[in-house]
Amino acid sequence: MSIEKQLICTRPAPGDEQAVPCARARVGVSACLLGQRVRFDGGHKRNDFLTGPLADFLELVPVCPEVGIGMGIPRPPIRLVGDPERPRAVGVDDATPDVTERLLSFARRHVAALGDISGYVLKRNSPSCGMEGVKVHDSKGTTAERRGIGIFARVLMETKPLLPVVEEAQLHDPVLREHFLTRVLVYHFRLPVAGM
Ligand code: SF4
Repeated sequence: MSIEKQLICTRPAPGDEQAVPCARARVGVSACLLGQRVRFDGGHKRNDFLTGPLADFLELVPVCPEVGIGMGIPRPPIRLVGDPERPRAVGVDDATPDVTERLLSFARRHVAALGDISGYVLKRNSPSCGMEGVKVHDSKGTTAERRGIGIFARVLMETKPLLPVVEEAQLHDPVLREHFLTRVLVYHFRLPVAGM
């Protein structure tokens, strides 16, 4: 049976020869990846794998942190600035608006309310959602290092360190995709992991 079908159909019941139906695994996702027009420019970053095959096997739970803090659509873009370990999220054209604390506060509340999710798919390179290698600019905005983590993504991963998390680009690699879905399956059913 494919890993996708294992995610949708059955839960092994102890002592029961017949597996019983169960709920689909819930997976959080950056809303723009589902085609929602929530980006700063009013566009989206629809991911055909997420909206196609994966949507049949998972219950996808979308959120846009920037819309969640009331930034509006369209809105001035933001970027990460300062210490790559703890950067600030400020405006690109005008650094005066600093939305770091609002994003942190939203992320803490949202992650606490997520309930029984079993994975998360994040938008690559986003100052809010990127899970690694996000550009962090120096205070003058002249140079940037790809060492940052999005403000929302950092809270998510620090709060739920065992949660399977992936960026959308990795879903197009069959090996990385199966690895992610296997981890979701294990997390969802709390299956024992070989060697642990
Ligand atoms: S990357 Fe995150 S913050 Fe940016 S538009 Fe997508 S969901 Fe919203």
